[in-house]
Amino acid sequence: MLLSVIVPCYNEQESIPYFYSAVNEIAPQLKAEIEFLFVDDGSADDTLKVIKELTRKDERVHYVSFSRNFGKEAAIYAGLENAAGDYLVLMDADLQDPPTLLPQMLSYIWEDRYDCVGTRRVTRKGEPPIRSFFARGFYRLINRISKTEIVDGARDFQMMTRQVADAVLSVGEYNRFSKGIFGWVGFRKKWIEYENVERVAGETKWSFWGLFVYALDGIIAYSTTPLVLSSVIGLLLCLIAFLFIIVIIVRTLVFGDPTQGWPSLACIIILLAGLQLFFIGILGQYLAKAYLETKRRPIYLTREKHLGKDKTLDTDGGVNENTE
Ligand code: UDP
Ligand code: MG
Repeated sequence: MLLSVIVPCYNEQESIPYFYSAVNEIAPQLKAEIEFLFVDDGSADDTLKVIKELTRKDERVHYVSFSRNFGKEAAIYAGLENAAGDYLVLMDADLQDPPTLLPQMLSYIWEDRYDCVGTRRVTRKGEPPIRSFFARGFYRLINRISKTEIVDGARDFQMMTRQVADAVLSVGEYNRFSKGIFGWVGFRKKWIEYENVERVAGETKWSFWGLFVYALDGIIAYSTTPLVLSSVIGLLLCLIAFLFIIVIIVRTLVFGDPTQGWPSLACIIILLAGLQLFFIGILGQYLAKAYLETKRRPIYLTREKHLGKDKTLDTDGGVNENTE
């Protein structure tokens, strides 16, 4: 039995050695052989060099290196696609996903026949309060407006069977939002809870703005409620306008002077113009996503890779050459 440890890495030269030794420490407690699959997501530092050094020392270490930075979602996809394991686990390189949970996760799959074991952090200790506030708000909102369940605090740290990995890979969309895809594919899932751990070295790649855009992507990918909202608000405004017309007609008949009240008119026009632009903007977001999706671009491009024997044989050829 082989467990593939898939590690998306973007500028993680400092963290990788810690990560490698922490997982190795726990490996003897696992009832499976392990394989490391590092996905170098177009790092600008010496990440690839550090990984290559590991491959020389340890034949269980494999890697895929991208032609540029494609983002963590693409790295996860590449990892699932290139891993050889019967079981697969996604882990961050910064040790925010404790390797000590691995034996427990594996036993849930093995003994309790779960298909997937997810993890969620129950605290957000060490995170800026403003970030936690918006994160909580995002999960509340998306779970209200989306049919796919997206669990608050869920990490990408999860272990799954080959079957689940194949299911996730079969969702071939370009705009990937893993938290949603894993919810969407279903299967029997066990959740493990743990306290937030701060990263061991290096810095987080997420800026506030980056997270905000990611949250918007998630909403657009997993809900069409914003589109329905424009119809509902439009209808409501028509109703209000209708009531106003009646009020104005009655007022003119009773008091005369129909020209009164142009400042309010100006406000109403500005408000409605704003609302219209706002909803055209939302429509634009969906259109843009649909446009990108129709281009059918590859999710990632490989510059070089080094995989285990059985995986090297069935590489897809073309762009991906096995080097080293
Ligand atoms: N990561 C990646 N590509 C990116 C950004 C991040 O592969 O474009 C990896 C990163 O190397 C790390 C994991 O994704 O292993 C989580 O990133 P980070 O720790 O910056 O996010 P956070 O834990 O702060 O949410
Ligand atoms: Mg991290």
